[in-house]
Amino acid sequence: MKLKKLLFVMLLGTAFLFTSCSSNGAKTLEQIKSSGKLVVTTNAEFAPFEYKEGSEIKGLDIDIIKAFGTYIGVEVEIKDIDFDAALLSVSTNKSDVAIAGITKNSKREQTLSFSNAYYDANQVVVVKEDSTYASLSTEAAILEALSSTKATIGCQRGTTGEYYIEGNEDWEFPGISNTTCRTYDNGAMAINALSNGQIDAVILDVAPATIYCQKTQGVKVLDVILTEEEYAIAVDKGNETLVTALNEFIVKIKEDGTFDRIVTKYFGA
Ligand code: GLN
Repeated sequence: MKLKKLLFVMLLGTAFLFTSCSSNGAKTLEQIKSSGKLVVTTNAEFAPFEYKEGSEIKGLDIDIIKAFGTYIGVEVEIKDIDFDAALLSVSTNKSDVAIAGITKNSKREQTLSFSNAYYDANQVVVVKEDSTYASLSTEAAILEALSSTKATIGCQRGTTGEYYIEGNEDWEFPGISNTTCRTYDNGAMAINALSNGQIDAVILDVAPATIYCQKTQGVKVLDVILTEEEYAIAVDKGNETLVTALNEFIVKIKEDGTFDRIVTKYFGA
């Protein structure tokens, strides 16, 4: 009798687990709504998309995800962690969404689902103004110069920049031959290392690269685009109700002017 009772309780518990989560453990849209909170992971070292001002986390992505919170009627909790951890948090259900200037990519789609794209982006190269690289003006010339000088190139760990330098079949990047890739927790640390002469170049996304260069003396963005990318919001793989809500929201804010207002706030007119 006792054993039967125990089994019954266990069964009930399992049934509860299955109804309170989607099959893979991620919260569905309805579950997020009834919990009253959307948990968001980001990496606030990527201005103007996400950055810290004192203890406050601000940026274009932050405004977007807060507006999404309002749209679905929940409070938004932002967790600032490393970029690779921000993505992993979503696929391990420690957060509901990640927004961090995340490039939508088929490799990442093996563990994550993405909203439709909301912003176009590119990788660029940052070098010292007084280096021999500073006057290069084509992708071929840059790659040739980095290879022939056996350059050490910095990037943020787990980002497009790393895959571009190292080469990655899934991302269809051949890699930059004869160079060494040095990864950092964030772009700021990579730019610092460049500025201190510890590395020869940094590859990262154009908008944060431009802002870092405005703030750091003696470094510049080369006027050459290495990649064509799109940013999207990441959720756990297969979390369709959340993807649908995000996509409807993106359409809405692009139509009603909210998106343009947010872009202008951070990029100017
Ligand atoms: N867009 C790049 C990527 O997704 C970099 C993002 C970031 O550093 N926040 O890999």
